[in-house]
Amino acid sequence: MSMIQTLNAYPALLVGIVFVFGLLLGSFFNVVIYRLPLMLHLEWWQSARDFCEEAWGKVPAPLDQPPESLPAPPFNLAKPNSRCPHCGHAIQWYENIPIASWLWLRGKCRACRVPISARYPLIELATGLLSAFVAWKMGFGWPLAFALILTWSLICLTMIDFDYKLLPDQITLPLLWLGLLINVQGMFVPLDEAVIGAAAGYLSLWSIYWLFKLATGKEGMGYGDFKLLGALGAWMGWKVLVVIILLSSLVGSIIGVSMILILGRDKQIPIAFGPYLAIAGWIAFFWGEALMGMLFRF
Ligand SMILES: [Zn+2]
Repeated sequence: MSMIQTLNAYPALLVGIVFVFGLLLGSFFNVVIYRLPLMLHLEWWQSARDFCEEAWGKVPAPLDQPPESLPAPPFNLAKPNSRCPHCGHAIQWYENIPIASWLWLRGKCRACRVPISARYPLIELATGLLSAFVAWKMGFGWPLAFALILTWSLICLTMIDFDYKLLPDQITLPLLWLGLLINVQGMFVPLDEAVIGAAAGYLSLWSIYWLFKLATGKEGMGYGDFKLLGALGAWMGWKVLVVIILLSSLVGSIIGVSMILILGRDKQIPIAFGPYLAIAGWIAFFWGEALMGMLFRF
């Protein structure tokens, strides 16, 4: 039996392999979630510096060095190697095995014993479990590969937006183009629905943003949100956009209200919309049609 036949014949094997792969990737996503926003901040500092140099021929003193909150370059996804943020202890490969290392180290740095956030193993576990679910739901084939890419992108976007209120173009835009490309052959929806979905996703939030801004002078959301909804429209077509918007508002108000009630979070602090769009988009990808049916029965 070839490998493909084996994976087709034993779904449990496929789910298991994808689960382990998801755990490993989750470990990499921890790096992406932590570093990509800082890389962007460094880039913006550099642009501000270059602009001053060009406009006035000199760089004002505070712009001369990157802010202390940012790491010193070179800083990217590969460099420097992972270190304990507290003591600088270089993390060895056996301290970096998804979930297992964190449990073995009892959630503390091996050198300085300062606690390591449980967020890291939780993101690894969540990536593993969600990936396994996608494999179980879709079975072996190209749609599975692309559904995994969508899932992984949404995990990174959710966490980065949650931390920094930022949906990096580096993830949203390739996701949008990829969604259009895979639907050229109608993998998930016919191409016309995908194209209209991408445009309608972007333009609907864009219009709301400008109406809101002209009416109140405030910014209710960011351009990243438009790009993300455009990307979701490209993957799933325009029909599910209504479901995504309603669902994200629902998820958003439930989580927002519980954060204010349970955690005592200040009502004035804005909450990023991206995580709700991403979560609603992922749910709509698998259950969009069922939800749409329920919606129309109302
Ligand atoms: Zn340490």
